[in-house]
Amino acid sequence: MKQAILLNPGPVVLSDHVRRSLQQPDLCHREPEFFDLQDRIRQRLLDVYALDDADWVAVLLSGSGTSAMEAMVSSLVPADGELLVIENGVYGERLSEIARVHGISHTAVAHRWDQAIDLDRVEQALQQSTELTHLAVAHHETTTGRLNDLTALAELCRRHKVKLLIDGVSSFGAETIDFDQWPIAAVAATANKCLHGIPGLSFVICRRQQLNQCQPRTLYLDLNRYAKAQAKRGTPFTPAFPAFYALDAALQELADQGGWQQRQARYGQLAERVRQCLHSVGIEGMLPTEQSSVVLRSYYLPPGMSYKHWHDYLRDQGFIIYAGQGHFSSEMFRVSTMGQITDQDIDRLCRAMRAGILEGLNSSASGDAA
Ligand SMILES: *Cc1c(COP(=O)(O)O)cnc(C)c1O
Repeated sequence: MKQAILLNPGPVVLSDHVRRSLQQPDLCHREPEFFDLQDRIRQRLLDVYALDDADWVAVLLSGSGTSAMEAMVSSLVPADGELLVIENGVYGERLSEIARVHGISHTAVAHRWDQAIDLDRVEQALQQSTELTHLAVAHHETTTGRLNDLTALAELCRRHKVKLLIDGVSSFGAETIDFDQWPIAAVAATANKCLHGIPGLSFVICRRQQLNQCQPRTLYLDLNRYAKAQAKRGTPFTPAFPAFYALDAALQELADQGGWQQRQARYGQLAERVRQCLHSVGIEGMLPTEQSSVVLRSYYLPPGMSYKHWHDYLRDQGFIIYAGQGHFSSEMFRVSTMGQITDQDIDRLCRAMRAGILEGLNSSASGDAA
């Protein structure tokens, strides 16, 4: 089967370098070869944002991004802690769901999915409850492509002495995360989005101090258990070692290519080209560019075209786009520019999209006339 160009928000198309890394020897996860690999990845993850390992620790988990979110929230809010959750899409709502499942005392500041974070309401919530210890938020809300403004939110948290738990699953490695200035307790992320690894491995970048206050609420997702084992060149359970090979290679590639800033610039260029192409045929993005991530954008469906029709047409041309979530599924589609995507891929995509839209419009126009 020919490799389709994946424009879904992960898993991504791999580079040859990452794909080749999967050809390395099978490993026993109780041998030094595995621990060397694990150590290297944990260091490379800190290096992505130039973090000092005196203050920060990277904890690896075998599981998708949600397992890192769940390990972070369920472990880091102490028994007597209280969580405020920001919801403006599926992933913010998932953070609340995690709190609910684990019986963590929490309240949410809910928004419509197309809304930016309302800082006044967040401030009210912070003032109302003096017991709040943590605030959880999706950095890049992949539901819509909104890059939530964490600088302003972080300032509020600092003033109210509340620590940030960030879902950075679709931003780590390609967007600004200010580990120095924001009062971050932890960031959860995954191997197979902006870092270009394969699915099966996720991680939490955690402030070391926070690990002392850990409260395990599950056996398997107990963050501190992983942190302790990994610090001593160990692992509590069987890790998805092929995903470790891929992430190691992917992190090396990210560094060689100039780090997250270069990746941000690259994604931004590709996303901008897609936006301009769609704009030229009358298709607009759902959010203004300055509120959007570089990673993914949402667009209105071409007039008179169902998502299925549009998806299937592009799939035939070799491109996999992504549906809108929930009630957005009938009006929107999403395009991510993560992964090994070339300028030529985007040229071909733009030609295909333009042709499809002009054709679709023509056929509906002739349908009207008939
Ligand atoms: C993809 C994603 C997740 C996790 O999804 P998994 O399917 O569990 O990997 C979590 N948060 C955000 C913002 C995401 O984009």
